[in-house]
Amino acid sequence: TMQEAPLHVVIVPTPGIGHLIPLIEFAKRLVYHHSFAVTFIIPNDGSPMKLPKQLFSSLPETIYSLFLPPVSFVDLSEDVKIETRIILSLTRSLHLLRDSFKVLAQSKRVVAFVVDIFGTDAFDIAKEFGVQPYLFIATNVMGLSLIFELPKLDQMFSCEYRDLPEPIKLPGCVPLSGSDVPDPLQHRQDFAYRQTLEICKKYPSAAGIIVNSFMELENDAFEALMEVGRGLPAVYPVGPLTKSVSSSEIEGCKDCLRWLDEQPSGSVLYVCFGSGGTLSHEQINELAVGLELSGQRFLWVVKNPVDKAANAAYFDSEETGKEPLAFLPDGFLERTKDIGLVVPNWASQVQVLSHGSTGGFLSHCGWNSVLESIVHGVPLIAWPLYAEQKMNAAMLKDGLKVALRVQHNEDGVVGRQDIANYAKELIEGDEGQLLRKRN
Ligand code: UDP
Repeated sequence: TMQEAPLHVVIVPTPGIGHLIPLIEFAKRLVYHHSFAVTFIIPNDGSPMKLPKQLFSSLPETIYSLFLPPVSFVDLSEDVKIETRIILSLTRSLHLLRDSFKVLAQSKRVVAFVVDIFGTDAFDIAKEFGVQPYLFIATNVMGLSLIFELPKLDQMFSCEYRDLPEPIKLPGCVPLSGSDVPDPLQHRQDFAYRQTLEICKKYPSAAGIIVNSFMELENDAFEALMEVGRGLPAVYPVGPLTKSVSSSEIEGCKDCLRWLDEQPSGSVLYVCFGSGGTLSHEQINELAVGLELSGQRFLWVVKNPVDKAANAAYFDSEETGKEPLAFLPDGFLERTKDIGLVVPNWASQVQVLSHGSTGGFLSHCGWNSVLESIVHGVPLIAWPLYAEQKMNAAMLKDGLKVALRVQHNEDGVVGRQDIANYAKELIEGDEGQLLRKRN
């Protein structure tokens, strides 16, 4: 009967592997520790959704997934910001989302509706059926503080945030330089800015806010947030929720784990820019030469170069038929075969970071990567690309002091000699030692 059926939570993730991975881990906790059932209703951004579907393929049977039909973006220009696409994936799916939710709300004991950082436009659907709406923040408390400050900052300043003469002081957080303010907020005339601002204004109407961070990591930011006395919803730091690795993923990464087994303890620099990060041809070349110059061992997960954007792989595109790795400098693979392993596209990152041979992580600072690195005590070289990654990098370097941070030349490229120096310093140098101890 209805009374005996498990309590049910509905989760709506907006596009992005970095949103989906922690939400799935969260769902597993609800199922394993609290006997809930969970249904994911997934807006479809029109990409093949290969990886999302794979992530759902090996879950407990009380986690259901319902993929909505793809929305159309034919009216959008090529250069719209990813945040615009993320937001529109949801808003253009709202009617279908409502239909699916209605069926669930009328047939299951649905007690909570959870959306992520860009999902507040779906709150009204939950409210219509008398269900409490919650937010799940797949980034940190600092990011949440910024969200709550944003309406005020928007009133206080009229210039672009990167032109502010002084850093922004978020309560309990390291000073945030204007140029490190997240991407979608850097162009105040853009649709993505105005939409994000509107979305942020709805945060206080959540029944509660779940954050993938933890007190030991962000105690001051958390306490300051709770102190402010603005009548904010309760905030629950439930982290670190990090990705658990499926057996098929380990199988797919067998060669790279075997290679790691053969390397000395703490000697390998792992290089990866997350699920969506891409580099230009020139920057890939510079990174390859820099790694070679450093003389350090490395495991590099590399995606095809893209010259126009740093997040070109965000919406999972079909693999191009190009010869893999042909873009690397001539002879690079041969010259580095004794110290380096290059893996195209994807590695089982959690396995790599938990391996004893891994001594450092050159990372784009996506929050999941940051947590995975911290959980395994691996110090970082922070090389942020987009979204809120620059803010995370500032927190890692200036606040937690567990990372070096790359500098770009005037032409916007991180130079080969600098890369070599960072790699050497992190793996062999005194500063690397210090960072490792703090981690
Ligand atoms: N990931 C992985 N292998 C890869 C790239 C990414 O397993 O080659 C996983 C990584 O462990 C993390 C997630 O994908 O859990 C990426 O999330 P993150 O927040 O770091 O970055 P995003 O992809 O959202 O930019």
